[in-house]
Amino acid sequence: MMSREEACELFRSPDLIGIGMAADALRRKLHPEGVVSYIIDRNINYTNFCTEYCTFCAFYRPLGHAEGYILPKEVIFQKIQETIDLGGTGILMQGGLHPDLKIEWYEDLMRSIKQRFKIHLHCFSSPEIVNIAEVSGLSLRDTIARLRDAGLDSIPGGGAEILDDEVRHRISRLKCSTDEWSDVHLEAHRLGMRTTATMMFGCGETIEQRVSHLDLVRRIQEETGGFTAFIPWTFQRENTSLGRTIKEEATAVEYLKTLAISRLYLENIVNVQSSWVTQGLKTCQVGLRFGGNDVGSIMIEENVVSSAGAHHRASEEELRRIIRDAGFVPRQRDTLYRTYFLN
Ligand code: SF4
Repeated sequence: MMSREEACELFRSPDLIGIGMAADALRRKLHPEGVVSYIIDRNINYTNFCTEYCTFCAFYRPLGHAEGYILPKEVIFQKIQETIDLGGTGILMQGGLHPDLKIEWYEDLMRSIKQRFKIHLHCFSSPEIVNIAEVSGLSLRDTIARLRDAGLDSIPGGGAEILDDEVRHRISRLKCSTDEWSDVHLEAHRLGMRTTATMMFGCGETIEQRVSHLDLVRRIQEETGGFTAFIPWTFQRENTSLGRTIKEEATAVEYLKTLAISRLYLENIVNVQSSWVTQGLKTCQVGLRFGGNDVGSIMIEENVVSSAGAHHRASEEELRRIIRDAGFVPRQRDTLYRTYFLN
């Protein structure tokens, strides 16, 4: 297994192609069938009210703000019906941290969705779960178990940014700590649920801090094996207050290098995603030769990164074309990277 020092050395190395080839070789070993997968799902952001004021976020509105909303259940149902009509298999539902919504609100939402629809619910990243536990006076374990019993199927890795408290203190002072992020995933895995791990880089962190993030994710995976995928993306600065101090977004070279090193470092995580939503279709396509074996969602709706300046759009056919053109077979998957549909 790659050591922290070796990973730091790779980050400092100018040999982009060499690093990419090593990541491609490992990708081939883990996915010898030459398939690149994608999912059809929809992001639903149930509320944009939030109390955390993360400096990289252009999505939230403070309580009482005229543009703040909580989506009524009927609107959520309608969005789910549209997703199913478009061939979607899952819902990624996330929102701001609302101080008044207790666990009963979330349980009721999960139950009423499951009563009406056969759809995978991949919802509530660590900061939301920590918030639900706090406002409801529950332990993390009880919170996750109750949400699971109400219909939650898996948990997204959002809210990780860089898992280093010095960085978190600078960019998301109020949001969950490194330990809290980890505890949510550890508890979920112990309860038999699968989750994903993410990393938002290019927000002024050092190489060592980026490697610490990868190392923590690898250690959790060693303990539980519960992560289905690792999804790195770059900080998008438009409309964010952090964008006033971080003037330059990560380039394609930095993205591809980080993607490849993530693939190499996280040997124990089967899937690594090359992101077209934040990097654009062309960089995403090249990422398939830098360790990525999945391109994520065709995204029927996405509000969070689009608020911060990522405005890429793609149809299923476009995604399939870039996958084919990179030399792979495109296959639709489900949220847990399990089923390949016959297309
Ligand atoms: S990133 Fe999430 S927790 Fe932070 S301000 Fe935005 S909505 Fe709130």
